[in-house]
Amino acid sequence: MPRKKTSPKKEPKSGDEPREKKIKVSHVSVEDEDLTESKESSSTPKNWPAAYENMKTMMEGVVAPLESMPWYQARDPEQTKPEERFRILVALMLSSQTKDDQTLKVWNNLCKEGLSIDWVLEKSNSELSDMIKSVNFRSKKATYIQKTATILKEKYNGDTPDNLKELAALPGVGNKMAFLFLQSCYGKCDGLGVDVHLQRLANRLGWVKKNSKDADKIRIELESWVPKEMIFEFNRLIPRFGQMKCTANNPICDECLNNKICPSAGKC
Ligand code: SF4
Repeated sequence: MPRKKTSPKKEPKSGDEPREKKIKVSHVSVEDEDLTESKESSSTPKNWPAAYENMKTMMEGVVAPLESMPWYQARDPEQTKPEERFRILVALMLSSQTKDDQTLKVWNNLCKEGLSIDWVLEKSNSELSDMIKSVNFRSKKATYIQKTATILKEKYNGDTPDNLKELAALPGVGNKMAFLFLQSCYGKCDGLGVDVHLQRLANRLGWVKKNSKDADKIRIELESWVPKEMIFEFNRLIPRFGQMKCTANNPICDECLNNKICPSAGKC
């Protein structure tokens, strides 16, 4: 029988941040922590608590470009206005298949020009497409942004939906964007926003059964064992680590603290 229910919980370390105390993973094991108890299953990768803790250590004091992205920041839903939410949504829509620095540059320019629902709808499709020409799939994205603006104006009174179902149904907004948007603008951490970094790390660390490129399948598999209380931090730590350390073409395997427990160490 599992030992979880009889073993005492460990005391939090002094000096930990409040959030880290609540979702502490450094000593997560089958012996302790109720939060993992409900999620532990045969598909839970054995290396994840240690790998996660190692990534936290390696990212201490490291600032990733991702942290400057508009959706990275957690906003107070009470203080955030509909216009700001629309801008964040547009930033996410621009970001698909596009480098962060390009996305940020284009988005900042749009904001300077007065990015809003009405502003978007006043532009012709080709005008908008031209203004976002530095992002990939600009023509498709211009169409999606205008369609989404129309829906938000007509159906949501100029605001954005606050739930996954309605957000993910907007043109050009899938689950990944919806989760990141809800987290940033409404303080909801209902699911993982699987970006290219999390996708790569999940595969390299053996956190998904098959080497998968399907972000939604990866999300479902990870969500089967990532404790719900950890989703907020998980959504932040792993992409940052992927951007700075376990990069697509130049992972730091030799110096990586995970190199003894990562099945891909030295093989990427
Ligand atoms: S692939 Fe290399 S850098 Fe990435 S987690 Fe594994 S050991 Fe670390």
